[in-house]
Amino acid sequence: MLIRTRLSRIFFLRKFFDYPITLNGKTISNLGIIRIIKIGWSYIWIQIFPVKNVNSLEDFFISRFGKELYKTFFKDYTEKVWGVPCTEIAAEWGAQRIKELSVKRALLHAVKSIFKKESSIEQKNTDTSLIEQFMYPKLGPGQMWETVAKIVEEKGAIIIKNSEVVNLNIAENQVTELSYYNHTTNLKSVVKGDYFISTMPVRDLITAMEDKVPADIKTVSEGLQYRDFITVGLLLNKLKIKNGTKITTLNGLVPDNWIYIQERDVKVGRLQIFNNWSPYMVADLDKVWIGLEYFCNEGDELWEMTDSEFIQFAINELHSIDIIDKNEVIDSAIIRMPKTYPAYFGTYPQFNLIRDFTDKLENLFLIGRNGMHKYNNQDHSMLTAIMAVNNIITGSKSKDNIWNINTEEEYHEEK
Ligand SMILES: Cc1cc2nc3c(=O)[nH]c(=O)nc-3n(C[C@H](O)[C@H](O)[C@H](O)COP(=O)(O)OP(=O)(O)OC[C@H]3O[C@@H](n4cnc5c(N)ncnc54)[C@H](O)[C@@H]3O)c2cc1C
Repeated sequence: MLIRTRLSRIFFLRKFFDYPITLNGKTISNLGIIRIIKIGWSYIWIQIFPVKNVNSLEDFFISRFGKELYKTFFKDYTEKVWGVPCTEIAAEWGAQRIKELSVKRALLHAVKSIFKKESSIEQKNTDTSLIEQFMYPKLGPGQMWETVAKIVEEKGAIIIKNSEVVNLNIAENQVTELSYYNHTTNLKSVVKGDYFISTMPVRDLITAMEDKVPADIKTVSEGLQYRDFITVGLLLNKLKIKNGTKITTLNGLVPDNWIYIQERDVKVGRLQIFNNWSPYMVADLDKVWIGLEYFCNEGDELWEMTDSEFIQFAINELHSIDIIDKNEVIDSAIIRMPKTYPAYFGTYPQFNLIRDFTDKLENLFLIGRNGMHKYNNQDHSMLTAIMAVNNIITGSKSKDNIWNINTEEEYHEEK
């Protein structure tokens, strides 16, 4: 594991802003004094006249940050990510994703960091969005899971790959067996089990239970929605943007891990600079591998473009906002990733019907991100797995402790 310094910034108005947004001289000069006054005033306004009913993500943002800051930094980006207006997204998404981040806490963090420089990786009391250091596997996150797979296989477990669970049999509040289809051998097989731990998307899980599921639960399940994702990797001789920070980097490369693209004239949502995640992932450090992230829906116009069309479109976008010169591109790659984000709209408000149904199946444990249709990150997903195993060991019947991971207490109180 490498210890990395986290730096992500926002690219907006063709300028760099801190991420999360910080009130400092640079932000003020980037935004201009008129916008700053509007932001300050609308923040004070919302403190005096708070939003009474926080029903949507828009309400959540406005109640936390004021209308002007919401419109400047949150609205467009969030709508780019989700493809629907913030008024149609449930407030829980904000509570889970943004956690305790607020204007007050961001100010406090800024003041504290003047006096104290964190050099340890222990940042347990720091809000997730403000964490400045992290550990990263030399060859990327997949390396961690390859290592885990190796360890469990050495201990005697069997991992069946390239196979898809297609049916689950249920009897008397228990899952008794599952069938899976092996895409390599084209054979279908059955596995009986004492316990079943599922990370397959909830919609697929309910489909696999076929006629064992009541009609109303099926309707909710079929209405669950997802946001999909395309990433384009570009290898470049160099970027057009230069390192304007005090951080020293090789060849003057910008020091960011991620750059959030807030510009409204392009569809790209975020950029990764792979050299800065781990130099071991880039063969020639005089070149730059970047990843462009696009949010889309399976079957929409972005999804349906051919690979070469899409890559050209992505190159043109970055060229148009002066991040790269298109003549510097030397190689590319594209990956489409369905069901990247479980969505908090569609039939999500009735999700508790599904949860009640699956919770009653005593030996079935829903864990992870799509497995719980919850915006769990990798750490939360691992915690849900650990909790499920603990429940099996202790014989605990309730699954509340699994569902409670990554759920704000504040949100419980609001509910
Ligand atoms: C593009 C992207 C960027 C991300 N960035 C970050 C990040 O920076 N930090 C972070 O913490 N998290 C990040 N995440 C989230 C993180 O990847 C997830 O939280 C985590 O992987 C969830 O773990 P999981 O086990 O629930 O699901 P997954 O890792 O998705 O694993 C689910 C597994 O179930 C398998 N499966 C699905 N259906 C079936 C079926 N029917 N039969 C058999 N197997 C099935 C899938 O093939 C897959 O192997 C990112 C996710 C994406 C997609």
